[in-house]
Amino acid sequence: MRNAEELVRHLKREGIRDPRVLEAFRRVPREEFVPEELRHLAYADTALPIGHGQTISQPYTIATMLEMLKLVPGMKVLEIGTGSGYTAALIHEITRSPVYSVELIPHLAEKARETLEKLGYRNVKIFVGDGSGGLPAYAPYDRIVYHAALPEIPSPIVGQLREGGILVAPVGSLHHQDLVACQKRGDQLVEIERRPGFVFVPVVGRYGFRLYR
Ligand code: SAH
Repeated sequence: MRNAEELVRHLKREGIRDPRVLEAFRRVPREEFVPEELRHLAYADTALPIGHGQTISQPYTIATMLEMLKLVPGMKVLEIGTGSGYTAALIHEITRSPVYSVELIPHLAEKARETLEKLGYRNVKIFVGDGSGGLPAYAPYDRIVYHAALPEIPSPIVGQLREGGILVAPVGSLHHQDLVACQKRGDQLVEIERRPGFVFVPVVGRYGFRLYR
């Protein structure tokens, strides 16, 4: 795939249907979010390294998550794992409302800030730190999405989701996860959708994987 339009055609062939999601992929220039030496691969449907052992996620995987989130304009969204900032830009294209994004690695957060500012995404607010337990200061959110794998859904996140709100996260082992969508009903999270067969980098931090024991 050489450009966003070809990537969108590919995503449609792969079964992505939500017109808002497809339009967001058409609008956000992925080449701005990948390292310069990998720009020729920017519209390939693969994850790419962005430094610090992290990756910009595979477009098909992101599209699946965004579909599961059922985003509409006006929603306030929290994402954990800013990485390159690409997913934050995609979310903002759909919601046109503030996106709160937490990244553990300061250098990646800084780079993402620069890229988003250059492209004019002023409504994406990036926070540096362990976001595994969410970002209570700006709660509640209409939607919450984790871009890195969790052993289980962290309990403190439930209180940060609005009633009827949806959370999407990759949940499983270090090497294999299901994408799980849960809806908040009362003070519980109820699973509404599950798609198996994904591999994400792990969430590290309080509610993530203990990697170096
Ligand atoms: N959406 C990003 C995906 C980045 S990969 C993109 O497409 O570019 C996942 C990111 O989660 C990595 O940048 C990693 O550093 C970050 N991460 C891991 N554990 C975290 C934590 N506890 N809090 C915040 N970010 C975390």
